[in-house]
Amino acid sequence: MMVKKLKDIVGQRWVITDRERMIDYLTDETAASVKPKPASELALVKPANSKEVSGILKLANCERIPVFPRGGGTGLCGGAIPTKDGIILSLERLKGIEIDKDNLMAIAEAGVTLKELVEKVEEQGLFFPPHPGDESAQVGGLAACNAGGSRAVKYGVMRSYVKGIEAVLPTGEVLKLGGELLKNNTGYDLMHLIIGSEGTLAVITRVILRLFPRVAASATMVIPYNIRRDAINAVPEILQSGIIPLAIEYMDRISVEVSSEHLGLEWPCKTGTAYLMIIVEGQSEEDIHSQCERISRICHRHHGLEPLIGITRKEQDKILKIRSNIYSSLKRDLADTIDIAVPPASMGKLMEAIDRVAERYGTTIPMCGHAGDGNLHPALMKDLVENKRGNLKKAKREIYQETVKLGGTMTGEHGLGRIRIPDVDIFLDKKRLELMAGIKKVFDPNGILNPGCIIKCDK
Ligand SMILES: Cc1cc2nc3c(=O)[nH]c(=O)nc-3n(C[C@H](O)[C@H](O)[C@H](O)COP(=O)(O)OP(=O)(O)OC[C@H]3O[C@@H](n4cnc5c(N)ncnc54)[C@H](O)[C@@H]3O)c2cc1C
Repeated sequence: MMVKKLKDIVGQRWVITDRERMIDYLTDETAASVKPKPASELALVKPANSKEVSGILKLANCERIPVFPRGGGTGLCGGAIPTKDGIILSLERLKGIEIDKDNLMAIAEAGVTLKELVEKVEEQGLFFPPHPGDESAQVGGLAACNAGGSRAVKYGVMRSYVKGIEAVLPTGEVLKLGGELLKNNTGYDLMHLIIGSEGTLAVITRVILRLFPRVAASATMVIPYNIRRDAINAVPEILQSGIIPLAIEYMDRISVEVSSEHLGLEWPCKTGTAYLMIIVEGQSEEDIHSQCERISRICHRHHGLEPLIGITRKEQDKILKIRSNIYSSLKRDLADTIDIAVPPASMGKLMEAIDRVAERYGTTIPMCGHAGDGNLHPALMKDLVENKRGNLKKAKREIYQETVKLGGTMTGEHGLGRIRIPDVDIFLDKKRLELMAGIKKVFDPNGILNPGCIIKCDK
């Protein structure tokens, strides 16, 4: 059947049908359970270039076979999970990368990981500003999800950095959109439709990314608080002061302690139950010191305790490592981690509303998030499922309803994937869903590309 034709396109070695050998490709990092297709009609295919991607899609489109594009598998909403028989299309072999120093751009194939991109860019003395979490994510996946991360407060999300894209349509046609351009207004912006489309409109094979010169110095501060509200209230004043930190993260004590223990490290702050982690950067050590001092004064006015300031790379990395591992260390006990965003100044109100939901359901909801841009990740623990069936669903809907009341959105950075669809009606009205379905139909008339992701699948 199709396996023979797939082998003709990419070579025998790059088509895998043995279930044992594709096990790592059947899930992603989502805590909520989304089950991959149990039957055996799945083929894992690893093309080497966009021509082979085109051949695979042409074949799949003719034979109406679902295709599940896959990057690093670090997604947090089940977008890459193959829930039907079909083809898992891994972009991992597309590894080419060039740096155009004159234009300050990186031209990277889809399978280049964030780690590889950062290393290559730094070798040239340059800087790629966004850093959305897990470094094994691939640039194709980062663009497909319009990933965000903690640095978005100063530098914005992936969309601000993607200047060009090569993408293959479900028909096999190859589109080249944008370029090494800082301005481009020619017609409807198809490239920005594909960014954030989570593999439902086209397969991204190459991305052109904007780079910046490297900054000279940075520091990572941790400001402990006894009362969460005080921590959150300090954030608007920091942002109004004229300093734009690289990141302003909020973490609670439970989360940092679980993460530190998981890593075998000691959380460096002895005091406080709530923390702001603030990263500043500048052109000199003096500049950094002056920013830290101004931030400390603001935090002190909001009852912040003695700040801890990491200056050396080692000190900063330790704090960042603990922050970055919160999700992985909580994951075992998580039923879901959500990704809501509200106007930044409403973050405190949102947290208080979530506390009330937790109280109603007799649970604790640890929270951490990107306080500088209003993006919060409440952790819904498994006891919600265990203490009464249906509670998880109900509690989640209540949190979403509180988010809407504050003018917020369902997902700030992770995307809808497969797991957010049941509650999307709270955020998207009928007309918007209709327009989205229409766009999907134009790009993918036979509905072969990542069915069941973003848009509900009927069959
Ligand atoms: C510990 C941890 C921390 C994280 N922190 C952050 C964070 O701070 N901010 C944030 O935004 N995200 C974060 N994430 C989520 C995740 O890293 C991002 O969503 C990332 O963009 C996923 O990239 P990936 O290559 O792993 O994609 P995958 O998980 O493989 O796929 C994700 C989606 O993209 C599609 N896709 C993948 N590659 C392509 C392609 N080439 N063409 C078309 N579609 C494609 C898939 O079909 C799927 O729908 C975190 C994840 C983890 C595990």
